[in-house]
Parts: sequence; C-alpha cells; structure tokens
Amino acid sequence: MRTLTRSFVFVLLCILSLTAAAQDLSYYLPDSVTYNPAIPKPKDIIYHEVGEWHITHDRLMNYMKAVAAAAPDRIKLELMGFTYESRPQVLLVITSPKNHQRLEAIRQQHIQLSDPARSASVNIDNMPIVIYIGHSIHGNESSGANASLLSAYYLAAAQGKQMDELLDNAVILLDPSFNPDGLQRFSTWANQHKSKNLVTDADSREFNEAWPGGRFNHYWFDLNRDWLPLVHVESRNRIQWFHAWKPNILTDHHEQGSNATFFFQPGVPSRVNPLTPGKNQELTNKLGAYHAAFLDRIGSLYFTKENYDDFYYGKGSTFPDINGAIGILFEQASSRGHAQKTENGILRFPFTIKNQFITTLSTLEGAKALRREFLSYQRDFYKNALAEAASAPVKGYVFGDAGDKSKTAIFVDMLRRQQIDVYELNNNLSADGFTFEKGSAFVVPASQTQYKVIRAIFDKTLTYKDSLFYDITAWTLPLAFGLPYAELNATRYSASLQGNKVERSPFPAGTVVPIAVENGMVAIGKSNYAYLFEWDEYYAPRALYALQQAGVMVRTATNTFEINVPGQIKKFDYGTIIIPVQGQTIDAGKLYELIKETAEQNGLVVYPVTTGNAISGSDLGSSKMRPVVQPSIALLTGTGVNATDAGEIWYLLDQQFNMPATHLDIPVFNRADLNKYNTLVMVGGTYNNLDKEKLKSWVQEGGTLITTEEAVQWVAQNGLTNITFKKPKEDSTKLIPYAERDNRIGAQRMYGAIFRATADLTHPLAYGYNYPFVDLFKANTVYPERNKNPYSNPFVYTDKPLQSGFITKENYDALKNTAAVLVNTLGNGRVISIADNPNFRAFCLGGTKLFMNAIFFGRLIEPGSGKN
Ligand SMILES: [Zn+2]
Repeated sequence: MRTLTRSFVFVLLCILSLTAAAQDLSYYLPDSVTYNPAIPKPKDIIYHEVGEWHITHDRLMNYMKAVAAAAPDRIKLELMGFTYESRPQVLLVITSPKNHQRLEAIRQQHIQLSDPARSASVNIDNMPIVIYIGHSIHGNESSGANASLLSAYYLAAAQGKQMDELLDNAVILLDPSFNPDGLQRFSTWANQHKSKNLVTDADSREFNEAWPGGRFNHYWFDLNRDWLPLVHVESRNRIQWFHAWKPNILTDHHEQGSNATFFFQPGVPSRVNPLTPGKNQELTNKLGAYHAAFLDRIGSLYFTKENYDDFYYGKGSTFPDINGAIGILFEQASSRGHAQKTENGILRFPFTIKNQFITTLSTLEGAKALRREFLSYQRDFYKNALAEAASAPVKGYVFGDAGDKSKTAIFVDMLRRQQIDVYELNNNLSADGFTFEKGSAFVVPASQTQYKVIRAIFDKTLTYKDSLFYDITAWTLPLAFGLPYAELNATRYSASLQGNKVERSPFPAGTVVPIAVENGMVAIGKSNYAYLFEWDEYYAPRALYALQQAGVMVRTATNTFEINVPGQIKKFDYGTIIIPVQGQTIDAGKLYELIKETAEQNGLVVYPVTTGNAISGSDLGSSKMRPVVQPSIALLTGTGVNATDAGEIWYLLDQQFNMPATHLDIPVFNRADLNKYNTLVMVGGTYNNLDKEKLKSWVQEGGTLITTEEAVQWVAQNGLTNITFKKPKEDSTKLIPYAERDNRIGAQRMYGAIFRATADLTHPLAYGYNYPFVDLFKANTVYPERNKNPYSNPFVYTDKPLQSGFITKENYDALKNTAAVLVNTLGNGRVISIADNPNFRAFCLGGTKLFMNAIFFGRLIEPGSGKN
C-alpha cells in the first residue's frame, strides 16, 4: 500500500512536471548577470522557449540573424557557405566592440602565431584567444544546436565587468550547427511526434527515428569523420574559416546514449594519437577542471578519461590537435525527443541543453584564465613541428599518376585545403617501384608549417599502444586514394625536385587530339571513323555515361591493341573506350562537338583515328571490342541497410559521376518491376524481408548484382553464390579476467585498416588499373575463400596484405589468401561480390574504379567463367 501511494505520488509529480510550461531562460542563464533588454530573447524570434521544441535549422538561422542585427558592436555574422540542401552555414564572430573595430588586424596577428618565421615577435600579453564553439555535427544530437541559442543570447546580451573582460580577451567563433541538413531532418522528426503530455517510454516513435535518421548529412555521411579528407561541402566551407582564424580551442558538442551522463575530454590517455604533443593533453586536463567545477555547481554527473579517444584526425575533437589547437569533445546523454525515461530517471531535453550551455561557459572561463598558455602553446606547437621536421628521416613526399591526372588533382586539392604547400615535380624520379613524371607528379616538402597534418595524411600506422579504437585505425590518404607515392629520405630528396608551387587545382584540361592543321586553320580532332579514350582517368566512367545518356553507342576493348593516332603509334590497354562514327544517331559533326565537350568536362585525352586497322592486337571491328550497355541502377536502401555504405554509393554516382540510381526500399523492391534495372547494388545490411526468389530470378534473367561487405555473406547464405568463408580462430582455452572482457571483445573488432589485393589486370573488373594491385579499405570480418575457378577471383589477398592500420592476429590469419572480389554467374546474370568497402567514406578512391567497372563491365564477364 505504502509503495502504491508512493508510486502514485511519483507519477503525479511526473505528470505535473511534464505538462508544466517549458523552462524559461532563467532555468539556463546565470542569475548573477544583467541582460541588455534591447537584445531579442530566443522566444521573441523562434516562437517557443529553448527546449520546448527542438529547434529547426530555419528558426535557428532566424535567431542568429536577429541577435547579430541587434548587437552589431559585439557580433558579426559570416556566411560560410551552403549545404547540399542549400541551407546556410553561418559563423558568429563575437568579441568586444573595441576588438571588432580592429578585427582583421587581430586575425592577422593571430595567424602570425602559427608561422614560426614570424611568431617570435608576436606579443601575446594582450592578445585575444580564439575559441571555436561548434554544435551537433550529428544532427540528431541536437542539444548542442539548441544550446547555441542560449550562448548567442548570453554573449550578445550579458552585461558587466566579467563579460567585458571575456570579450576583450577572446574572439569567439560560434557555429550554431555543423550539420544543418541533419538537424533539420531530426528536429522535424522529434517535433512531429511530441505529445502535449510528454511520453517518456523509450520505445515510443518519438525516440526511434526512421531510416536514415538525422545523424548524417544529405548523402548519409557522418560529417564527424570528414575533417581530414574534406569530401563534403559542409566540411570544405567550415575548414576555410578554421584556417582563416586558427582557433586555440575548438569544442565539439555531441550526445551519447540516454543512460549515460556527461562526458568531457580528456579521453582515454593511452588512445591519443602519437602525433599529438603531450602538452595538448595537459591543457585539455586544465580546461577539464573548469568543466568539472561548472557541472558540479548545477549538480550534473559527468565522467572523463574513459570511452572516447583522440586518435583519428578526421574528427572534430581530434583534428584541432594537429593544427596547434585543443579539440574538446563533449558528449551529453541524449533525451533524443523531449523527455525520456532512463536509468537515471527522466532525462528532460532542457536539462541536456543546460549541460551543453554550461560547458560552453566553462570553456570560455577556462580559456580566459589560461589565455596566455594556449597562445604560447600554439606558437610552440608550430615551432616544434618545424624542428621535428628538420630531424625526421623523411624529407618529403612525391606522388602522382600519369594515367589518372584527375585523381591526382583531387588529392592535391585536398592537401591545399589543409593549407599544405604542394609543388610540381621538377625532374622525373623513380622511387619505391614507381616512376613519377614531371607534368603529372607533385612534391610535398616535409619542412613546412603544416608538417603535422602532412604526417597525419601520409604516415602508415603499424604500431599501437592500445588495441581499442573509437574509429578506423588507418587513413593513409595516398594509399586510400590509390595513388602511387613515395617517402623521400635525405638521400632521395632535394630542393631541386620542387618546381612551381601549385596555386590552383591541377585538374587536367581534357582535349580531343588535333589531327592536322589545314591551310592555317585551327587544328581540330574531328574524325569520320572513330574516337578512343583510355579508361585510366578517374572521370572516364562519367564521360562514358554522359555519352550513353546522349544516345551514343560505345564499345570497350577486352584486348590490347596498337593503332595509329595523330603523330604516333599508340598502345591501348584493356578497357579502352571506342566510339565509332558510323551508326550513331547523330552526324559526325555533332558527335565531335559532344566528344570534345565530354573530354573537357572530364579531363580526358580523346584520340581520333582514321582507320580501324590495328598494328597489333585486335582491330576496332573485332568481337573483342564489346558493346557497353548503359547501366540502369537501383540501390537497395531503407530500414536494415547500412546507411553510410549506401550513402557512399549515392554520393559517388550522383556527385562524382552524374549517374542516377533508384533508391529501392525493401518493401518497394518486393513489389517493383525489376526489368527497369540491369544493375542492382546491395551494401551491408539485414535483408530478412527481401524477396529472395525475385532477386534470384532477376539475376538469372541477366541482371548484374553487385554486393559489398556483409551483403556478400547474405547472397551466399541465400544460394545466389557458392562462396564459403573463413572464420578467425579463437583460443577458447585462454583465461581472460572478467574485468578485461570489454577490451578483449573490442580488440577483436575490425575497426578499419588498409590491405593490398593483387589484381588480374586483364579482368574486366580491373580495367583502368595500371599496377597489379589495389589497396582496399576493410572494416568487416568477411573473409571469402577463393573460388576454385581461378578466373572468378580478379582481386585476391596474398599472405602479407596489411598496408596500414591495426588488425588482430586472429583476424589477419583469416584474411590472408582470401579473395577480395569474386564473380559468380547465375543463369544469364552475374553476382559480383566485393568483400570490402570499395568506396569507404568517399576518400578511398582506390576502389572506385573497381566499383565502376562492376557497374559498366560486370555483364561483359563471360558466363561460365565462374560458374556455381
Ligand atoms: Zn556525435
């Protein structure tokens, strides 16, 4: 009875508190401060209290504009750019009126600290510290973005000596939303499911977003892995402002599981990337004391030095660590919706916002107090980096692919976005089995300001202090890009290798090679017979698809040949694209114009030929020159499908290759007419409800099914292929203390590393590759045995495939000598099984060609060559 009464009172209290009016600003703001009444409060602009509803990105922008307009002497609103969905990314530059009057001078002086040649003379005594406050890069971790309303109001409106001191001594860069598209998607979900009488049951729809959820950006990418590779427009916009200001501190406000409390960095001490200086962690600790004190004051539980790490530099809290700054990760337990029942009682949305706001205040307080330490740390960081570069054995790096100038250019562009100086290679050079040619190769000297970032990009990582990671263990970017590169030591490197500094993107100028000059006319490459282009260039698939889209018939060479082209006899490799002039629906003149435009847009060299008579190998009319069917692609999507893996393919086809793909959710797949598609892509996921028989008959009737990662196992288990798999052996007799069980399980995971597969360059799936290997990214435990038919294993792992990253002995033993890619025929169709992720995070461009080959050339693989 007593219990009943008690629980009745408890329920009553809950109902009262849950239906009570939302918290007004006094719940969040320090009460010892007076506020300028001329500054609009959030509710004046967004029409609800902070925490009453989840802020939509549109309303968030409305408030940021309003507060900047009301406090022009303190706030300058900058537009960084736009997301894929055309949402603005804004940055509020907040400092004292006095500082605003000389803002550019302050910025210039601040930048000088990062330049060892000029930093010694900088007087930091009265120099403001620069603090970048960033929110909710995972759109469904929205307490951060909601807290930015409070931070903006507080920094615009708070009065008094303390505030004046802060603004005099700091330039605050407030980024309300790192991921506007994701925030909008999530806030819409959370708000549309809110009940007037808040429902706190975690199973309720409000807390369980529909696929793919608001975590990701438009293309279902995790933007918090993109700070280093800078694939996405959001990252590229943001990084310009990061480098323009080079902040001393960058905070990254996230959310974690609902039953947790609050985490602030430092993370696990043994999991700090060795390139990060020890002093970085020391300062992180000192700042941590402020977070602890501020959270203590409001009675909030927290933890530190556990769970999270500082290893992969593609994250917002780690990236600053190789840029002279201190990155701070905050993780608030998520209410997800408006109030959720948890192990710690009911977690209310306003409370989560309050913690995020409080730790912004503690960051600012700590930054103010430790200002000189942070500024001199930044100066020392760059000075020490140069000294390290001087004593390091590697003096520079050379890279470049003469056959793929576009991919080389994408890599150069990425380096330059990271403020790395890149130079043209001045002399041809051979190193590590590669030949680097002037005109298509580049040099990066180690001795430059961004030395640490260069190391982060080029280093192979093969030794580790710990075997647990929060994310991938290797990201050696030239390997991931599939670019030939070499480290140059003192004997191989000399300044004379450096030609001109690269000042703009070296994207190749595509062209149709001119045939001849007649009567002083401009030379053109118009042919009445045929055109050829090689398949090596990154954008060759985009060019091919554009031509097919225009109705042009093309063939590809499944044999090599030599033929006369203007000025030379040229050897053409497997996969060369042949466009005959006769038999097209457009005349020779229009075809030339189309090919010229396509060449220019895609950085291709197209060779006109006047004969089909090969000097060696197959003639152009040979049956070895096979027609290429235009792909009509569907990608399986929706609940159960790995959203980031699917997103990578969407992004790749849409943004990079201008190729449409239908996104087929499984229930739609089950009822759709599949005859519309000749190519289906299935990434890792659970496909329990997929109509297997329908899929099978579609393949049997001639479809090309491309599977990656765990989907490779799914098709095998469901009888579409005969692939068997190796399993890592576990020593079950070994006794492991209970307390170490997390470490043990965690260490067996495949976090992600880079492995080298040998390639059969004559196989249609290897067309366009010039070296007999490809480096692939693997973050799964799918280890397919090689097929008995040798022709159906175009890419295999040897007994020493690890290039960079961490893998346990058990997993490594299982991986060795397996197949990376298998081809099976089924009826008239094919199943192409790619055990790894050929498009990982869209920076692993080494596997892109293989994936595009599967799309374009999969159906050319002869039936019977890998029969089940
Ligand atoms: Zn997060």
